[in-house]
Amino acid sequence: RPSIVWLRDDLRLADNPALRAAVDEGNPIVVLFVLDDSPLVARPRGGASRWWLHHSLTALAERIEERGARLILRRGDAAEEVQRLADEVDAGGVFWNRRYAEGERSQDGAVKKALRAAGRVAESFQGTLMYEPWTIARDDGQPYGVYSAFWRACAKAGTPREPVAEPQSLDGLEKRLHSDELASWELLPTKPDWATGLAEEWTPGERGAHERLRDFVGDRISRYSGQRDRPGAEASSRLSPHLRFGELSPFQVRTAVLDSREGAAENRSKFQAELGWREFNYSLLFHNPNLDSQNMRRNFDGFPWHPASSEVLERWQQGRTGIPLVDAGMRQLWTSGWMHNRVRMVVASFLIKNLLIDWREGEQWFWDTLVDADPANNAANWQWVAGSGVDSAPFFRVFNPVLQSQKFDPQGDYIRAWVPELADVPAKEIHEPRASGGLDLSEVGDYPEPMVDLKATRAEALDAFAEIKSH
Ligand code: FAD
Repeated sequence: RPSIVWLRDDLRLADNPALRAAVDEGNPIVVLFVLDDSPLVARPRGGASRWWLHHSLTALAERIEERGARLILRRGDAAEEVQRLADEVDAGGVFWNRRYAEGERSQDGAVKKALRAAGRVAESFQGTLMYEPWTIARDDGQPYGVYSAFWRACAKAGTPREPVAEPQSLDGLEKRLHSDELASWELLPTKPDWATGLAEEWTPGERGAHERLRDFVGDRISRYSGQRDRPGAEASSRLSPHLRFGELSPFQVRTAVLDSREGAAENRSKFQAELGWREFNYSLLFHNPNLDSQNMRRNFDGFPWHPASSEVLERWQQGRTGIPLVDAGMRQLWTSGWMHNRVRMVVASFLIKNLLIDWREGEQWFWDTLVDADPANNAANWQWVAGSGVDSAPFFRVFNPVLQSQKFDPQGDYIRAWVPELADVPAKEIHEPRASGGLDLSEVGDYPEPMVDLKATRAEALDAFAEIKSH
């Protein structure tokens, strides 16, 4: 009897323990992906994620065919679709790698129960996280609320396994099975096609992921520890969307990084610590199902946010705030579907602490526009910047976007790349072009004045914070 491999956040053939286990059974293989848009299972994907998913599935289908099997695409309630396919082929077993959001876990639990009740094998595997959230706990059994303690406990818990071998051939099932036309899912933008910049920057799929990984461990890693905070330096890996869609596993990335001969040990351990944040955020999601909608610190429920007027929000979204580093970041996001980590922190802080807009508005925009939009990392990082999360930057620590710009983009290279109006402005003035006095304002063209006074809004935010703190 055939084995079904149900792929979800693990769109890869290499280091895929569920696929490996199915192949090792020695039976014919059917690979399934179900598009389940029910918000009860998972938050509906944003536009950039839908674009990525389309291309990643295209790449995956090709690889599966090259190896001798087929990717079956179905749309609907995934629990029903898995069981329907299992009945159609009279599957001996269904295999998958685990997911961690509450709705996903409860769907997986229900599927497992139904399959087993029908006399089929149903097995789940660890493919997406190096440390399962329920295995890392404090002595009193409670989850860690502090990253450093969590990551130390992970190190104590043991060394992550080595990647499992990729099956070189797949024994596909002969039977003709219905598979949806991917185009009929309408994952790609129609008009206007806002995704041309995404296509220039990214190659979704396993091959694109491995190219990025090779580029990182062969070159960028040597600059990682020293320059990862510089948005113009091209020192970080850009693996985040590939990890998000599981085109690479963290096990593969970790092993490749440890094997890399480029640069100092410092780079390798710093990078692993960042992978640790991903593990920590998933642990937060596992224990806090409403991470994207509920302040972890409940006193923030009473924060006097300004109403998010569409005019103010649009200036932020479109990169017309008049603060060059913020505008560069927001335009990089809109054009390429990605933003440098340091700049993500700066634009988020500006929205929350200078515009006094609820972090959930920003989180939603990122969710829609980031190719790496991730239910754990996006929400947890927004709460981190807001100060409403556990182990967060305290609210009173407000990034000054002009000082951040001077420190991390001193020559203004990153700003010039994304804000062409400022292309000819000298480094000294570029961070605050309209405030310098020395600059001929015609050089700045129609680049706007700062939309708010940074000092005054910071003071207002701190007053508001003092108010909720006393409650
Ligand atoms: P590298 O520096 O090369 O790091 C390697 C990997 O480690 C990343 O690919 C990522 O998987 C993980 N990682 C690095 N930094 C973090 C972090 N702070 N938190 C969690 N994981 C991390 N990351 C996402 O993957 N998805 C998101 O939706 C997301 N939203 C964010 C929102 C805000 C407001 C902020 C401040 C950060 C957000 N991040 C998110 C974290 C971080 O910005 C990105 O993971 C990073 O910029 C990706 O680039 P990279 O792959 O070159 O990172």
